[in-house]
Amino acid sequence: MGMNSYKIGLGNLDTKTRRNAESDNVSFWNEEAKKLSWFKPWTKTLVWNSPFAKWFIGGEINASYNTLDVHQDNIAKKPAILWEGEDGTSRTITYADLYTDVCKFANVLKSLGIKKGDRVTIYLPMVPELPITMLACARIGAIHTVVFSGFSAASLRDRIDDSKSKVIVTADVGYRRGSSMDLKGIIDESISGLNFVEHVVVLKRAEGNLQLGPKDSLWHELMNGSSDKCEPEHLESTHPLFILYTSGTTGKPKGVLHGTGGYLTHLNSTFQWAFDIKDSDIFFCTADIGWVTGHSYVVYGPLLHGATEIMYEGVPDYPDTSRIWDIIDRYGVTIFYTTPTALRMFMKFSDTIPNSFKLSSLRLLGTVGEPINPEVWRWYFKTIGKSKCPIVDTWWQTETGGMMLSPLPGLETISLKPGSVTRPIPGTDITVVDEQGNELPSNTKGYLVIRKPWPGMLLTLWGDDEKYKNVYWSKFENNYYSGDYAIKDSDGYFWLLGRADDILKVAGHRIGTAELESSLVSHRDIAEAAVCGIPDEIKGEVIVAFTVLKENTKNEPSLLRKELMEIVRNGIGPIATPQQIYFVTKLPKTRSGKIMRRVLKAIASNENVGDISTLEDSAAVMDVQNAFTELQNAIRKNKS
Ligand code: ATP
Ligand code: MG
Repeated sequence: MGMNSYKIGLGNLDTKTRRNAESDNVSFWNEEAKKLSWFKPWTKTLVWNSPFAKWFIGGEINASYNTLDVHQDNIAKKPAILWEGEDGTSRTITYADLYTDVCKFANVLKSLGIKKGDRVTIYLPMVPELPITMLACARIGAIHTVVFSGFSAASLRDRIDDSKSKVIVTADVGYRRGSSMDLKGIIDESISGLNFVEHVVVLKRAEGNLQLGPKDSLWHELMNGSSDKCEPEHLESTHPLFILYTSGTTGKPKGVLHGTGGYLTHLNSTFQWAFDIKDSDIFFCTADIGWVTGHSYVVYGPLLHGATEIMYEGVPDYPDTSRIWDIIDRYGVTIFYTTPTALRMFMKFSDTIPNSFKLSSLRLLGTVGEPINPEVWRWYFKTIGKSKCPIVDTWWQTETGGMMLSPLPGLETISLKPGSVTRPIPGTDITVVDEQGNELPSNTKGYLVIRKPWPGMLLTLWGDDEKYKNVYWSKFENNYYSGDYAIKDSDGYFWLLGRADDILKVAGHRIGTAELESSLVSHRDIAEAAVCGIPDEIKGEVIVAFTVLKENTKNEPSLLRKELMEIVRNGIGPIATPQQIYFVTKLPKTRSGKIMRRVLKAIASNENVGDISTLEDSAAVMDVQNAFTELQNAIRKNKS
């Protein structure tokens, strides 16, 4: 298919405006910020005390006011959240409901002694009370720190201890894959001995009695006695809105701190540009609110725009892999935003599953979290979008707050290329540089950097300015280091090639993991692939690949190995041919669904796997370990 078959967009942003937005990004964002409601206008758009940015200095704003109060006059009765539980239970929460509950819970937090600047840890499953708690914090200027409800007590404790939260909000249970998780038990274990924790608010969901300790109180009891009038605090634009720990794909999670005015400006604009949101849309983002995608594009983005969205508690493949398509049809979802990992999981099974649904309400598809392989992109476009929905592949990070590279159909017309995130959003300066920080010519691989501050930029790492400087600003002078490897083609389109930490260096060549993995998953029998380099005395590094087969594949392993080698040899070059290919049933992933290549590398190099607190399923490590040992033994046997 030629490039023009993927032409999208309704907007008419011209090249000149785009160029101006890049050269004078401060004026550009100054205008964008005016789209929000401010209590007091700012006096200075940006103070850039490198590497610390302060946006909209002197301005006063409130995130809950901009997501709730502003909608009460015209769309109070409009559903904000259409919630569905894994067992099929559903709830509709209108903008009026949300407003009332947020005010009430804000008063609850005040009654528990929470003041402006205090931290509140939220350990809740995907239920409406989760955004309610976040917005209640925002209303009174407390800093929320959401921890994904799948984390263990030890990981949770680290995060609570780091943020020194006075209040914890949790539920008795969460439901996942047909069983219930004892969240309250995990909280109790995680806070034992943490004396700074004063109160635990528990949302009771299950039947039966719940043992309450001295710090515990029940959500509904506190809410019953609480007033629904709560004036929003007038907060400085730079007042911290939340701390969120990164996914931990490349190492120990970092406590990213975000502000208010800049962050909201970034989300307000990007949500409109990328999704071209209309009043009639039904938006569905599958991310858990425990991750940044959930913060930005389940909570703040859609609610700023008064959108209606689906919130689903449960996993996408329970009771089976038709679950998501069923939700799309039943609710008439128009915009669907998910991850490459989820798409590869769906592709693993027969297309008769999605094909048995209409999916006719869809008009726009999005993806985020990992590079999307061109093969997966095409499948998404054809099988889910029926060749009529544009795909917005959005590159961004917890640290960037919102999208940074993405097609923007709500703003401009652009031709898509499967596997490319296209171009930077206007008002940013993003490029690819070499090891010394020099900008590279097009079609040359290098490090993705951001050269100017942007409004959604993190304030710092919580309590650790030094680490903030070290991690993001020490590799290159005055350039934000993203940690990703990329290439910009001659049309100015960006292609993400993988993590800079995972780059393969073979005989003087640098190859991104995504290049090789995309080549491997283009084989009809391969559902997922992950590659890593291991030290080799002669070549410096050799490549090993771990692959997961699709369901019902009949290929014989040795034949399949040959075919895969062939695909890589022809597609990328002989230099990139993996020395070994392992077949596994599961790849090690973070709880947010990202492949942890460093774990594979450690196993294949016989080294310690390091910090795996964010690992989703330790069975995957065993699985990889076994496949590795098995093949090593077979090779040894062959040799002797
Ligand atoms: P940690 O920084 O702790 O290792 P993490 O980087 O996985 O964790 P996130 O902030 O959740 O934490 O993920 C951001 C990263 O996800 C990006 O740096 C990039 O590697 C990857 N990513 C996100 N979106 C895309 C995309 N559209 N294409 C390619 N990669 C993407
Ligand atoms: Mg990261």
